[in-house]
Amino acid sequence: MTEVLAAPALSEAVERARAHIAEIGRLLYERRLTDTAGGNISVRVGDVVCLTPRYSGSKRRWRLQPEDVLVVDLGGNKLIGEGELSRESKVHLRLYRDFPEGQAVIHAHPQHVLVFAVARQPIPPVLESTLKFGVIPVIPFAPAHSAALADHVAAALRGQEARILKQAAAVIAPWHGIFCIGKDLDAVFDAVERIDTNARLILQARALIGAELLAREQAALVDAVNTAR
Ligand SMILES: [Zn+2]
Repeated sequence: MTEVLAAPALSEAVERARAHIAEIGRLLYERRLTDTAGGNISVRVGDVVCLTPRYSGSKRRWRLQPEDVLVVDLGGNKLIGEGELSRESKVHLRLYRDFPEGQAVIHAHPQHVLVFAVARQPIPPVLESTLKFGVIPVIPFAPAHSAALADHVAAALRGQEARILKQAAAVIAPWHGIFCIGKDLDAVFDAVERIDTNARLILQARALIGAELLAREQAALVDAVNTAR
């Protein structure tokens, strides 16, 4: 146990976060919001970050125990845990440094969001329940685990601090997946699931009425909500 975690209240909060991350990892995988190829989940507790280890998907199939979740400082130095840091930990740490509003981050490969990632298409809200996230933008390409990827994710989230504070904000990494940061882990998990549902509905509604009519319906949703306010 390091000095930074010596305070009993902090160490209790860290243990709660590690258990919560293990539970959310199982749910993400069960609900096809991520896959064996990857994803990572983190929670900030004061000046430390609890983060899923590398190979959580490919070797563990997201059956993590709380003690598998690593604890690192904001510079990425491991304080507690046995595994290797995941490749996307750079993005998580960068987001915590740039966005103090954010207390949890999920990077995932949700099955319907991936369709938009491979087509490099943004996801506009088509449900009342996803309007608050705005249009989920596609960031410029940068290879997985590069510093440039962290730059692009942070740049696309800039200006979305109010969304992070209220619930969460997200971006799509082309040919890869989603990055989502929010006020706590429940809020971020909820956002990822809502955005994936929204992505599925766009695909199905386009098949039903075509892209042009759906775009009109999407504009009608925004109008209806603004008028009702
Ligand atoms: Zn990934």
